[in-house]
Amino acid sequence: CPERETKEKDCRTEPISEPEWVNNVEFFITKKLGVWCRGPNGEWHLGKIQSASGDVACVVLSTTEVVEVSMKEILPANPDVLEGVDDLIQLSYLNEPSVLYNLRVRYSQDLIYSKAGPVLIAVNPFKNVQIYGNDIRSAYQKKALVAPHVYAVADAAFDEMMREEKNQSIIISGESGAGKTETAKYAMQYLEALGGGNFGVDNEILKTNCILEAFGNAKTSRNDNSSRFGKLMEIHFSAKGKICGAKLETFCLDQSRVVQLSNGERSYHIFYELCAGASPILKERLNLKEASEYNYLNQSNCLTIDRIDDAQKFHKLMEAFNIVQIPQEHQERAFALLAAVLWLGNVSFEVIDNENHVDVVADEAVTNVAMLMGCDSKELMVVLSTCKLQAGRDCIAKRLTLPQATDMRDSLAKIIYASLFNWLVEQINTSLEVGKLRTGRSISILDIYGFESFKNNSFEQFCINYANERLQQHFNRHLFKLEQEVIFFSLKLKLYEYEGDGIDWTKVEFKDNQECLDLIEKKPIGLVSLLDEESNFPKATDTTFANKLKHHLKANSCFRGERRGHGFRVSHYAGEVLYDTNGFLEKNRDPLHVDLIQLLSSCNCQLLNLFSSKMRDKSLKPSLSESMNQSVITKFKSQLFKLMNKLEDTTPHFIRCIKPNSNHLPGVYEENHVLQQLRCCGVLEIVRISRSGYHTRMTHQDLAARYGFLLDTKLSQDPLSTSDSIMKQFNLPPEMYQVGYRKIYLRTGQIGLLEERREYVL
Ligand code: ADP
Ligand code: MG
Repeated sequence: CPERETKEKDCRTEPISEPEWVNNVEFFITKKLGVWCRGPNGEWHLGKIQSASGDVACVVLSTTEVVEVSMKEILPANPDVLEGVDDLIQLSYLNEPSVLYNLRVRYSQDLIYSKAGPVLIAVNPFKNVQIYGNDIRSAYQKKALVAPHVYAVADAAFDEMMREEKNQSIIISGESGAGKTETAKYAMQYLEALGGGNFGVDNEILKTNCILEAFGNAKTSRNDNSSRFGKLMEIHFSAKGKICGAKLETFCLDQSRVVQLSNGERSYHIFYELCAGASPILKERLNLKEASEYNYLNQSNCLTIDRIDDAQKFHKLMEAFNIVQIPQEHQERAFALLAAVLWLGNVSFEVIDNENHVDVVADEAVTNVAMLMGCDSKELMVVLSTCKLQAGRDCIAKRLTLPQATDMRDSLAKIIYASLFNWLVEQINTSLEVGKLRTGRSISILDIYGFESFKNNSFEQFCINYANERLQQHFNRHLFKLEQEVIFFSLKLKLYEYEGDGIDWTKVEFKDNQECLDLIEKKPIGLVSLLDEESNFPKATDTTFANKLKHHLKANSCFRGERRGHGFRVSHYAGEVLYDTNGFLEKNRDPLHVDLIQLLSSCNCQLLNLFSSKMRDKSLKPSLSESMNQSVITKFKSQLFKLMNKLEDTTPHFIRCIKPNSNHLPGVYEENHVLQQLRCCGVLEIVRISRSGYHTRMTHQDLAARYGFLLDTKLSQDPLSTSDSIMKQFNLPPEMYQVGYRKIYLRTGQIGLLEERREYVL
C-alpha cells in the first residue's frame, strides 16, 4: 500500500499530517475544539480556529492573540479529557505536537514514565523522584499499582517468564545521558527483590554495577557518569522464580579514553577514585601521586565532578570487591596495574637523531611502571622504543620514531586497562555464577549506547550506529509480530470476529531498515568489507577509502559520498549521519604487538601473565588465529550477531529513555530535543501500529443507548443505522471506525471523543 508507506516515512522527517481532519474544520470551528498551530520558529501553540477560508485559517491562541495561519500549519489537538493520558495510544489525534504536549504535561507532574503501546517511555527527571523504593515496588508486585513504570516492565517480564517458560529481555535504549543505566539498575533492583532468597543476600547483582561503573564509566560532555561500554546482564531464575545466578556480558569498551581525552571530560572514574581514596600505605606502595600529576588525567582540565566524592566512591568500590570475593592480593595487583597505566602516561621520549628516532627518558615514570608491572626497567625501555624485525634468520631491533614510540606506550596502557576490565568481568561472573545454565527462565537487561550524530562523526560513531541499526531491526521485527497480533488477536478478539462481522482489515505497513543494514554488512561490497579490505592494504589512506566507498556503494539509496573531502553520509533509521573517514583505517586495524605480549609474559605479576597467556592462546589456536587478525569492526560485527541471536530467543520488552534537555536540568523540557529522540526511536510508529487495531468495540444497542439521544434526526429502529448516523453526525473520521453487523469497532481514543461531545451537550 504505497500511500500508507509514504505516510509512515513522513513521520520520521515531517510532522505527521492528518489530512482527514481538514474535512472536519467546520466542526472544529462550531464546537470550538482545540488545534495546534505552528509558529514561525517551528514551535506549537494551542488555539481555536475562528474562521477558515481556503488554505488560510484565523486562529485565536491561548494567549488571546489572533493569528492567520496556513491550514498546513495547523493540526488537531486532543480533547481535554485526554490530557496527560498514560498511554499515547489513547490519544485521538496522534500528531507530534499532541505527543510532545502529553509527555510534557506528565513530566511537569513528575510522571516520568508513559507508555507508547507496548513500549515504555522514560523521560529523565534529573532529580530524585519519589517513585522508587520498597513500598512502591511491592505495590507493583501486588498489582496494586499499574501506572507505567520500569517496575511494571520488570514485573511483566517476570510474569511472562514464569507463565510461558520463555526467556525475556528488557532492551533499554536512548542517547547518552537519557537514563539507560539508571533505568537498568531499577529493573535489576526490582527483579532482585522479587527473586531474592538464597541468592543475592546482599544485592549482589546490583553491587556489581558499582565495580562496572568505576572501571567502565567516565564523565563526558553529555553525562557525568557515562557508560563507555555496552552491557547485557542475564539473570537466571529457578522454577520457583528465585534468582539462581547471573551472567554479565560487556561490549566494546572505549579504550582510547585511557590515553586521550577531550577538554572537559574525564578518563575512567577508577583512576581519580584510586588517587583520592587509596590509604596512605597503599599510596606509598604504588608510588601514587595526586591525579593532577598524571598526563593521562590532567590533559583535559577536568579532574573532579560536581557533588561527587571520589574518595568515598573508592571505599564503596572496595566493599563491592569484597562482595564479589576478589581476593585481597588480586585487588592490590589490580590497583598496581592502574597505577602502572597512570605512570605510563608520564613516560617521555627524547629524540636522538635527525630521523626522529627516540630513546625513553630514564626517569621515575619508567622506573615506577617497571616496578608496578614487575619487570626490568631496561627491558621496558627497549620495548617502548624499538620493534623487532625478522631479517632472514636474525632478529634485529629497529628504533621507533617519536609518534611510533608514543603509540607503542599508549597501546601498552590500553592493553593493560582493557585486559583488567575483562578480567574484572570474569571475576564478577564467577561470583554470580549460574549453577547449571538453564534456559527458559532468564531475564536479560540490555543497556547499550544509543544512536549518535555529532558535528564530527568517526569510526566510534559508526560502530555505535551500526549496533543501533541492528537493534532497530529487532524492534521492527517485534513491531511486525505485534502487527500480526493486532490482526489476529486484537485484544483477544479473533480475526474471524472482525471478518465474521464484515470488517475490512487493511494492513499498516512500516518501513524496515534492511537497505541500510545491507549497505553496512553486505559481502563483498558493503561498508564493513570495504573497510577491512582497505585496512589490509598498506598504501591505503583515508582518501582512497572514501573514494572506494563512493565507487562501490553509490547504488545504495542509504549512501551518499561527499563530493569533496573524505566524508560519506549514511541514512540511518534515525537520521542521516555524515562520517569523516579520517582515522577509520587506523582505528580498525588494532594491531596486537607481539613484543608487548612477550613483555607481559615476562613480568613478575600473575595478572599480567594471565593477560598475556590469554592473548597468546588466541593467537596459537588455529581456529582462532583468524580472530587474532580480525579487524575491530569484524570483531564488533560478530559480537553484535551473537547478541542479536541471543535476543531473538527472548520475548522483548522495550524501554526508550528520553533526555529532556542537554543541560541535565530538572524541570526543563526542550521540545525539539525531545521530538528528535521520539522520531529516532520510532515511538510514533509503534503507537500507530498499536492503535491500528479497533480496540474499542460496542454493540449497536449499547452505542445507541449511550449516544443515540444526541442525534439531530429521530432514532432509527435499526441499531446498525443508528450507529452509522452517530458516527456521521459527530464527524468521526471514516478510518477511525468500522460498522460491523453486530458491533461498532472504534480505534483507540475515539470513544474519548464521543464522550467529550456527549458531555458537551449534557
Ligand atoms: P545513560 O546511561 O543513558 O547515559 P544515565 O542512566 O547514566 O544515562 O543517567 C544520567 C543521569 O541522569 C544520572 O546520573 C542521574 O543523575 C539522572 N537520572 C537518570 N535516570 C534517573 C531517574 N530515574 N531518576 C533520577 N535521576 C535520573
Ligand atoms: Mg549509561
